[in-house]
Amino acid sequence: MQSDEHGDDRYSRQTRFAPIGTEGQARISAARIALIGAGALGSVSAELLVRAGAGFVRLIDRDFVELSNLQRQSLYDEDDVRQNLPKAVAAESKLRRINSTVQVEAIVDDVNPSTVEDYIQDVDLVLDALDNFETRFVVNDACAKHSRTWIYSAAVGSYGLVMPVIPGKSPCLRCMLGSLPAPGTSPTCDTAGVIGPITHIVASMQVAEALKLICGAVQPADLRLVTYDVWAGAFHSLDLGTETMATCPVCSEGRYDYLDGSPLRTITLCGRNAVQLIPAVKGDMDFLKLSKSFPAAGVQFNEFLMKCSAPPYELTLFKDGRAIVKGTEEAAMARSVYSKIVGA
Ligand SMILES: [Zn+2]
Repeated sequence: MQSDEHGDDRYSRQTRFAPIGTEGQARISAARIALIGAGALGSVSAELLVRAGAGFVRLIDRDFVELSNLQRQSLYDEDDVRQNLPKAVAAESKLRRINSTVQVEAIVDDVNPSTVEDYIQDVDLVLDALDNFETRFVVNDACAKHSRTWIYSAAVGSYGLVMPVIPGKSPCLRCMLGSLPAPGTSPTCDTAGVIGPITHIVASMQVAEALKLICGAVQPADLRLVTYDVWAGAFHSLDLGTETMATCPVCSEGRYDYLDGSPLRTITLCGRNAVQLIPAVKGDMDFLKLSKSFPAAGVQFNEFLMKCSAPPYELTLFKDGRAIVKGTEEAAMARSVYSKIVGA
């Protein structure tokens, strides 16, 4: 192991922290982790895990680096935007420079019911760094099916939360939320904004939970839902209990509705350079509210539909949540545009 003139190796400050020690460091070095999403949460969590010396880090993301990411996604810079790099690719080269001893695998792909199982089956821990509930419910099902511990994490505005899930032993996402929120009912970073301090705090809390789980420092009964609002200065730690598990379709029946079904069906409209998206749960869109997050020139609506221009795409949204994304024939790209504007 490399060390400086004081005999300090790369991880000396971490191994001197007694709850980790050399035994914990050995566990961290052997850990295999999948990070789903390389945006505001994933880019920060990946950096922390790679610096901490995780054995293997898989990073999966479907998007490219955009200028509006740089305000909070500190792994990326203007060069990545100029080169139109996929986030996973840009992240990989930086992570290798940070710690060449960690095995980093970057994957440019959409995580959905047909791909998720490939990405989580051969890892010990799955970190949710997603920006939409639709995929989170798929991850929840896949992790339950394959008994993979995962850490639910989210941030929007100045608020964020973290909740580790140990399948079969602690409440899952469906225990907490019941079912997928109807489209348009939860704020997204694209509509409500998000500030850098909360995404960094949530990523840090997520990695702290990951290190505790890897080092065997937590029991299922210790797990909490931790929420923080950095603007209000309000921190809450909620006991999860296990009562909800008895009536949860995932935890009590082993039913994986979101993995087996398709919460957001996509149909390519051939010859029209467009994709139609149909949510399984019908919504009741509040166009006035949704339109407020758009520049006046980019949005128009009446009582039936709302049109949002997001060049090179155009999204037409109907009252029940159905939408048509023009400008692409790729389902993954259409889903990405939809989840950014509508959420869920
Ligand atoms: Zn459950």
